[in-house]
Amino acid sequence: MTKSPSKHVEKLEIEFNNLFLSTQMIIKEALKKLGYGKEVFELLKEPIRMITVRIPIRMDSGGIRVFTGYRSQHNDAVGPTKGGVRFHPEVNEEEVKALSIWMSLKCGITDLPYGGGKGGIVCDPRNMSLAELERLSRGYVRAISQVVGPTKDIPAPDVYTNSQIMAWMMDEYSRLREFDSPGFITGKPIVLGGSQGRETATARGVTICIEQALKKKGMSLKGAKIIVQGFGNAGSFLSKFMHEAGAKVIGISDAYGALYDPEGLDINYLLDRRDSFGTVTNLFDNVITNQQLLEKECDILVPAAISNQITLENVHRIQASIIVEAANGPTTLEATKILDEKGVLLVPDILASAGGVTVSYFEWVQNNQGYYWSEEEVEEKLRKVMVNSFENIYQTAQTHKVDMRLSAYMIGIKKSAEASQFRGWI
Ligand code: NAD
Repeated sequence: MTKSPSKHVEKLEIEFNNLFLSTQMIIKEALKKLGYGKEVFELLKEPIRMITVRIPIRMDSGGIRVFTGYRSQHNDAVGPTKGGVRFHPEVNEEEVKALSIWMSLKCGITDLPYGGGKGGIVCDPRNMSLAELERLSRGYVRAISQVVGPTKDIPAPDVYTNSQIMAWMMDEYSRLREFDSPGFITGKPIVLGGSQGRETATARGVTICIEQALKKKGMSLKGAKIIVQGFGNAGSFLSKFMHEAGAKVIGISDAYGALYDPEGLDINYLLDRRDSFGTVTNLFDNVITNQQLLEKECDILVPAAISNQITLENVHRIQASIIVEAANGPTTLEATKILDEKGVLLVPDILASAGGVTVSYFEWVQNNQGYYWSEEEVEEKLRKVMVNSFENIYQTAQTHKVDMRLSAYMIGIKKSAEASQFRGWI
């Protein structure tokens, strides 16, 4: 399971400076740098399809509640659209639209044969039973079934949805179509066609980005000092991989505070505490704040928690020479520019966290061919994709004299633009 839907629901992390408008702004700049005309931006600034559905569900109490759901498909010129479904009380149309554009960018960067999609249901999984969540998951699939499918639009887990929810959704779709359709959705349990390596894919992808960034800086991973903000799925696996590779993880944090030791933390012990108690920093006395941690001296800083962590307010005090964004939107656009001027190598979120969608693609390929790969094979294939994507973005940044974020947007949007032109849409 990726996450338990009944876990404490934290505030949605993506609220930074109006996500939709800032995404459109960088896409406009990226298309301009690539020499595309206005009509290409006109097509790509909004999803080609956005549906809103109303889902009536019988609650355990016997009454009916009607939920609102969304599915956004940004652009399907390259191939079917792909992206997660989130369950959260703050899900809204603008956010789902922006995140579907992000998925196009991620698929473009990693050269996957997809456009971007995203979905969500406005609900509070904290206050729902498993039976209600199952009925809601199945109801959502029935409501959007005309526009999704293995060759149309392929959902996946996202905030507060997990492999069990993917399993219910796949079963509902298969019943509707009257044949087994594992390729309809990714992030499934292994026994239903899930892929090896899916759970650790994001952290593996971040690890590969760190290795590549260190090479560019002429530094070695052995002994490198790393700070990781966030000790959830992405941050905790990453800390483990870094520790195993001989790096020194000197700081970690969660929602309750941060632990810091310049000599290196005992990551295996902290993982064990986290697994036993759910959180980790509140078990210790000598905690510092998340903000203090970000400003400590280190070689690599990995924000892997929430958005808006490196801003104009603290950017001048950041001491890392490499920042790898595992979280969505941890650095504001203004802070990105300052870091770039300071010579900090910043690996942007749409590249650094693309390991998840890449292994989702591998899951879909394995479902389509009916032949399954070992974890080693998956990881080797992921490494190739991440190394190529990193190199491509790094070289484009050098050639066009732009930061890695703009370069990533340029590469990410180019495939959708090119494919739309070849199809004669623009
Ligand atoms: P998670 O819910 O498993 O963990 C989040 C962690 O951040 C927890 O340790 C939590 O305590 C901590 N946190 C919450 N609020 C905080 C705060 N104010 N300050 C510091 N820490 C805080 O989430 P995750 O799956 O690890 O995702 C983390 C980030 O990475 C998110 O931005 C997510 O969108 C992004 N991401 C994750 C994946 C994935 O596959 N897990 C893929 C792409 C992007």
